[in-house]
Formats: sequence, C-alpha cells, structure tokens
Amino acid sequence: MITDCLFCKIAAGEIPAKVVYSDETLVAFEDINPQAPHHFLIIPRKHICTALDLTTADNELIGHVYQVAGKIAHDLDFSEDGFRLVTNCNSAGGQVVWHLHFHLLGGRDMEWPPG
Ligand code: AMP
Ligand code: ZN
Repeated sequence: MITDCLFCKIAAGEIPAKVVYSDETLVAFEDINPQAPHHFLIIPRKHICTALDLTTADNELIGHVYQVAGKIAHDLDFSEDGFRLVTNCNSAGGQVVWHLHFHLLGGRDMEWPPG
C-alpha cells in the first residue's frame, strides 16, 4: 500500500466508498462523480500506478477485472443493454488518480469517439 494514495486507502477501508464488489485482489465502488447512471471504478488492491506499469505477472488480474465487470453489469441488470470498460492512462489519456482503475459505465447509450 502507498500511504498517500487515495485508492489504496479506499481498498484498505480507510476512506469510505460505496463498495459494490470486493475480493482478495479487486475492489469495485461507485465513482464519486458519475458520468452515467451506472459508473463504478474497479481497482486492484495492490498499487499499480498506470496501465504502463502492468507486467505479465498481472495478466490473470486483468482477466479477472473483465470477469468482475461482467458480473457487476449482470447483477445490476445492464449487461444485456451494454456497457463500457475504460482505463485512462497518463495525462493526455485523462488519468488524474495514479492508481490503476477501470471505469465501468452503463445505463445509457455511449458515444463514439469519446471526448
Ligand atoms: P481518472 O480520470 O481516470 O483518473 O478517473 C478518476 C476517477 O476517480 C474520476 O472519475 C473521479 O470522479 C473518481 N474519484 C475521485 N475521488 C473519488 C472518491 N473518493 N471516491 C470515488 N471516486 C472518486
Ligand atoms: Zn494506490
């Protein structure tokens, strides 16, 4: 855990969040500034700064993210309509929190290309 990392603190339960899924490797919680009717952040419990810091040792973890995203969407009944799962990487990619996270967005039609 990185002591000054917001998402490490959420994963550790030191900062409150509306958690919708949790296991030994991942936590998912509601985004504080939702951009869709459903907007969750799926994060690894271990601190990884950006998508560029992933290694082959994380392949199983990332596969698990997709499984969990599908489960959340299914359980909350927006998997059939569809959803978007996105990671912003570094500044031009729109990343502002430096702990890897996946935005799970659903409940409305998504536009393409994204802004
Ligand atoms: P990104 O721009 O990809 O780094 O996304 C960071 C996301 O974290 C944004 O969508 C924020 O709304 C969200 N966020 C920031 N602080 C919190 C918090 N305390 N609880 C939940 N979501 C947060
Ligand atoms: Zn962290």
